Amino acid sequence: MDREQAKKRIGELTGELNRHNYLYYVLDAPEISDEQYDAMLMELERLEEQYPDLRRPDSPTQRVGGEPSEIFETVEHSVPMLSLDKSFSEEELVEFDRRLKRHLGLDESEQIDYVCELKIDGLAVSIRYEDGLLVQGTTRGDGTRGEDITANLKTVRTIPLRLRGTPPALIEVRGEVFLPIPEFERINEERAARGEPLFANPRNCAAGSVRQLDPAITASRRLDIFCYGTGAIEGASFETHSEELELLRRLGCKVNPEIASVASIEEAVEYCRSWTDRRASLDYEVDGVVVKVDSIALQREAGATAHGPRWATAFKFPAVEAETVVRDIEVTVARTGQLTPVAIMEPVFVDGSTVSRAVLHNEDEVARKDIRIGDHVIIRKAGDVIPEVVRPLPEKRDGDEREFVMPTHCPICGTEAERIEGEAVRRCPNLNCPARRLSLLTHWASRQAMDIDGLGPAVATQLLDRGLVERPEDLYTLRVEDIIDLERMGERSAQNLIDAIEASKGRGLERLLYALGILHVGRTAARRLVQHYSSLREIADADQEELEQIPDIGPAIAESIVSYFARPDNADLPERLEALGIDTTSAEPPAGEASALSGLTFVFTGALEQMTRAEAEELVEQLGGRATSSVSGNTDYVVAGPGAGSKLERARELGVEILSEDEFLAMVADAQR
Ligand code: NAD
Repeated sequence: MDREQAKKRIGELTGELNRHNYLYYVLDAPEISDEQYDAMLMELERLEEQYPDLRRPDSPTQRVGGEPSEIFETVEHSVPMLSLDKSFSEEELVEFDRRLKRHLGLDESEQIDYVCELKIDGLAVSIRYEDGLLVQGTTRGDGTRGEDITANLKTVRTIPLRLRGTPPALIEVRGEVFLPIPEFERINEERAARGEPLFANPRNCAAGSVRQLDPAITASRRLDIFCYGTGAIEGASFETHSEELELLRRLGCKVNPEIASVASIEEAVEYCRSWTDRRASLDYEVDGVVVKVDSIALQREAGATAHGPRWATAFKFPAVEAETVVRDIEVTVARTGQLTPVAIMEPVFVDGSTVSRAVLHNEDEVARKDIRIGDHVIIRKAGDVIPEVVRPLPEKRDGDEREFVMPTHCPICGTEAERIEGEAVRRCPNLNCPARRLSLLTHWASRQAMDIDGLGPAVATQLLDRGLVERPEDLYTLRVEDIIDLERMGERSAQNLIDAIEASKGRGLERLLYALGILHVGRTAARRLVQHYSSLREIADADQEELEQIPDIGPAIAESIVSYFARPDNADLPERLEALGIDTTSAEPPAGEASALSGLTFVFTGALEQMTRAEAEELVEQLGGRATSSVSGNTDYVVAGPGAGSKLERARELGVEILSEDEFLAMVADAQR
């Protein structure tokens, strides 16, 4: 891949991964499997290694998790909550050990004592105890800042409100809150009975439960915890991680009983291997094994990068595969009109849940994998319920299998489907197609878009069927008496729905843009657009060339935006929405200012040649970043000039990225573009 191609791909991957991070960490609603996510992340890491200067300031490889959501108070962690680097095979585990020994200056033949812990698939939390009393509980958030969820964590029965024995003056207990599998199944069964959307897996259910505004909901779900470490601590110390775990146990914190101390990486590999086969016997989900250096002195010496400690690695279990039969391939129609083939399979139990459908993406994908109706296939699931058809088993064919033929017409409204040149998909062009209308309406109401509580597929279908609504904006003329007769709607819920519709008027331009469902305009593109325009009118008036100047807005997106607003049925759309009282503006600062370096912390040290330190700090702040004077685990970049001393040393120790003044200026220029 040449430099230009790499630059483009890095941009795409950064945007896509950040979007999936948001879906996963903030909304608890992933769209892709962890395996697909990890594969994209690895591709990005490799490209960034090859072209370090093309790495973008918002690269997910430099981050932990997702931004804390705005619905809770934000808490700054006194000791960062990092992620873990991963090992995807036994060889990579051995390589981790080799690398670590090199870093520590140890001989290959020396052995390191490790602690092996099951990697619980839940949500990392930090619980602060002062004089033994629980005073605060937070999520990991982006590793530096988390969400204050104290009231919710207090409802978890296995989290002590007061520590036992003689607790230290201050201790932050860190652990993973999770949902036992039987409890997850119970919650989903109840949701299915009420017609509510199901949680994808126990992890998302746990994260969604912990991050509830109403602690009573958290309390109704029997969450559990395993504690595995500490953050800030005063009045106690330990020399090994095993002693740290022992202290937690003594204080009454729940520690996983399967933890083992081993005397070499070979024994750690053995532990990982034995749990790969046995993990299904547990009644909670684990997605791997965390291997940690036992000695705290060695941990300190090894240090950390911005992403995770160098003294630990997360061994990921391989994905689980199963065999089943494809009974049919159905075609669904999305809000953009896209026709998507979906494999309907003989239900099969794999990795914790029953699977009967798998999205096949598009006709080329079906042809490439040669999946036929009636085929025996291998499906794969990795830690969640978004399954994937890996390959067919042609040796099991008996001649009755049928090749899939993509319909030439929309299966719902019968309009001839279009296949746009250069795209792998066909679309139903009929804007009035009932399937398109329904998915557009539910998309409009979804949490990430206009967030209208109570407007799910069941209600949306009735509104459309009864002709009460044709397009999303018709929602804003509904009155209680129009909807009170809908099935399963009482006076109270009708009023609630009208109130929710009213409340959605003020969501602002970014969500509105996303809600419109313009082809190719996802959350990232919407975000970019509001950084450049402050109203929907301005965007509707922009031409292709102007739109293409915006970072991440390529020709396909620009063209889609222009043709969307050129459609006769969208004539005067901004004015019509305004007349309905919908906020079509944004309070965002324009043109890349104030957000390009947001969330990043810089420390300047040594002499700068092209500007004063104060000017450099001001520049960072103008672009939404933070400039501080001391280097800590929270620092993203240290900009070092001639004469830099102890801060530079400290940055090296902590593995903080070091930039020259020129590199810093290039980053600023890139961020402003
Ligand atoms: P991670 O979950 O792989 O590893 C770090 C975390 O492990 C810690 O923060 C902690 O919460 C947890 N953990 C569990 N047991 C532990 C123990 N005994 N000791 C220490 N930590 C323990 O890393 P991550 O950064 O939280 O998330 C990355 C994961 O999330 C990947 O598996 C990725 O595939 C997935 N992800 C998926 C999507 C998606 O769209 N599907 C999006 C983002 C992330």
